Amino acid sequence: MALQLYNTITRSVEPFVPLDPEGRRVGLYCCGPTVYDFGHIGNFRTFVFADLVRRYLEFKGYAVTAVMNITDVEDKIIARVRTAGTTLREYTGRYETAFFEDARALNLLPPHHCPRATEHIGDIIALIDTLVRRGLAYQAADGSVYFSIEKYRAAGGRYGRLVNLNFDEMRIGERVKSDEYAKDAMADFALWKARTPEDGAVTWASPWGEGRPGWHIECSAMSMKILGPSFDLHLGGEDLAFPHHEDEIAQSEGAGVQAGGRPFVKHWLHGAHLLVEGRKMSKSLGNFFTLRDLLSKGFAGREIRYLLLTAHYRESFNFTLGGLQGARAALARLDECLAKLRDVAGAIRAEPDAELLRGFELALDDDLNVSAAWAAVFDWIRRMNRASTDNELSPARAAAALAAWNRLDTVLGIGERPDAEAPPEIVALLEARQQARKAREFQKADAIRGEMKARGWLIEDTPKGPRLKQETQA
Ligand code: AMP
Ligand code: ZN
Repeated sequence: MALQLYNTITRSVEPFVPLDPEGRRVGLYCCGPTVYDFGHIGNFRTFVFADLVRRYLEFKGYAVTAVMNITDVEDKIIARVRTAGTTLREYTGRYETAFFEDARALNLLPPHHCPRATEHIGDIIALIDTLVRRGLAYQAADGSVYFSIEKYRAAGGRYGRLVNLNFDEMRIGERVKSDEYAKDAMADFALWKARTPEDGAVTWASPWGEGRPGWHIECSAMSMKILGPSFDLHLGGEDLAFPHHEDEIAQSEGAGVQAGGRPFVKHWLHGAHLLVEGRKMSKSLGNFFTLRDLLSKGFAGREIRYLLLTAHYRESFNFTLGGLQGARAALARLDECLAKLRDVAGAIRAEPDAELLRGFELALDDDLNVSAAWAAVFDWIRRMNRASTDNELSPARAAAALAAWNRLDTVLGIGERPDAEAPPEIVALLEARQQARKAREFQKADAIRGEMKARGWLIEDTPKGPRLKQETQA
């Protein structure tokens, strides 16, 4: 079976064929977070999608090098550094750490490289210098260096391949009247931004004077540095296709570093946006959630990951708290089935059940049709449950099913339900309740149960004994 992926640049679903002549090594770059605040769940939809792509490529046997940059210098960051009265590194370090903690909560595999823009200023300057020497970039009166789309097109570059552009509307070539910009043409974009007094200490020396890099050039410089001038996959949210990715192509191909007509990137993948309660997330609408907001409501990382992984990446997805409750119920069914399989299989080991693997792979090969993959999983759960009810679940069959699940879960990354980690006072209450029950003091046992509930902890009595569950706040 062969993996097919939609490619934004060709607007079609194509077989995935790596650039590596041996067809084994794959380079993947995903535009990472701008570390000026905590990540919201929209951001994490995109990062969970990137994680799915990487995990599935690995499942298919490819040796993936995954890169995700950290945008740690940018207009919004500089504004925040100024108001916080701190240093750039201190400010971004806090949110970078938070980002990696959130990524862990969602079980995102750590990328092999997470380059920071501020640590690649030399590479960025070298790339801008190449563009200036090739006549595609110019320094304007304001001291900033811009990329000239007109020159790029005149040199045979094709600008506007990820999105259809109306060049008349873009007024390419028309001089910009606004005194805010000194650039030659409206569509030109900054490669190097000359220092302004507001930048404070956030500045670097360059052949064009003090300043800082533009956002687009960061990704061109860091992706090509790590993955080479031509690589397989470039990912991001759909809002990045234009202008960010279009500009990355122009800069990277404009530098003329690719061999023999190879493209900068072979496959462009864009994840559709996440809506919350049917609308764009906004603080004023009260529907803005960081990942931390959801974790503090008592939802588990795996429940959020599951929900973000239920819809096809090219479909916009409507996130609701009700949906998250539904995710909890779906995972409870999965967990119950896995527990049963484990009980039946005991110590027996078996080869993975090929039927389940086949259904799963067929679905994901089809442009990562993850909803069809989950349908295959839940259909399998129903079959396993029926087999168990009908007393047809042999240890060997249960072991094969578990082995198949473990293989699928290398892609889904849902893992097992961790037993809730209760604070010691709750564990002590649980023990007191067990003692009371043993002593047949049922009123006392119920009172302790009520006390625990008031503190947000529920007891689930299972054949294996009581299990603690944290109550969620809706
Ligand atoms: P940023 O931290 O703003 O640079 O964004 C990081 C990633 O999140 C980018 O790939 C964006 O395209 C993506 N993103 C931003 N908002 C959303 C959203 N509502 N849904 C999905 N992805 C988003
Ligand atoms: Zn980028």
